[in-house]
Amino acid sequence: MSPILSVRNLSRNFGAIKAVDDVSFDLAKGELLALIGPNGAGKSTCFNMLMGQLKPSSGTVQLMGKNIAGMQPRKIWRMGVGRTFQITATYASMTVVENVQMALMSHHKRLYSLTTFAHKLYREEALALLDTVGMADQSERHCAVLAYGDLKRLELAVALANDPILLLMDEPTAGMAPRERIALMQLTADILEQRGISVLFTEHDMDVVFAHSHRIMVLNRGQLIADGTVDEIRNNPQVQEVYLGGGTLFKAQEDANA
Ligand code: ADP
Ligand code: MG
Repeated sequence: MSPILSVRNLSRNFGAIKAVDDVSFDLAKGELLALIGPNGAGKSTCFNMLMGQLKPSSGTVQLMGKNIAGMQPRKIWRMGVGRTFQITATYASMTVVENVQMALMSHHKRLYSLTTFAHKLYREEALALLDTVGMADQSERHCAVLAYGDLKRLELAVALANDPILLLMDEPTAGMAPRERIALMQLTADILEQRGISVLFTEHDMDVVFAHSHRIMVLNRGQLIADGTVDEIRNNPQVQEVYLGGGTLFKAQEDANA
């Protein structure tokens, strides 16, 4: 089967810094792919190019065979690439269900408007999506009063409203307590697996990475130094060296084994 996403020789410089340096990889349908690497490795730069926020210096990004490198973010989003867990994406003054309705209206290209008419639009569909993420009982609450973890579940529902084929998640569990992180990623992985949505995510927490990835890629100084299964990455000497320098990759494992 041809890949959903196909990245070739992707590079981005900032002056003399090669933030992303000749990166190539494929992402298959339904695959959960983690992109890890120390701070400053180029993960966010890579994401920003895939989403259209940054133009590549060179290289191609093909989404289902179409080159999207350098396209406007809005256009890429319309083609089915979603981005989750940006807190600002939700409107604090609206209710939970209204936020999802807005996303559905936008997906179906209706005009944004909060008239009484709009209140009824896509309400059933919005409630069904909230049910999927376990937020149905909070549908009438205002977003401003939601707990952090609930806001993240709402953002997942908002992302799903666009019916994405690919989701990009840059540190989805940042700022969450460890137990909450695992629960959120488990929920996310289950939903995406059911729907056959492909995922590329970055994550600091190696417990989350090892528990939920089908495949892991390691970026260091802009270059991909490894690409493999969880076991392959764990046992890769070059990866261990990079992380033992920074001291984080296997710490959780060592603690667990101690
Ligand atoms: P990561 O997300 O892996 O921590 P980034 O992609 O944020 O890494 O950064 C990669 C490198 O590019 C770093 O050296 C960073 O300082 C540099 N960089 C990122 N964005 C910019 C920018 N807008 N201007 C200049 N340098 C940048
Ligand atoms: Mg980053």
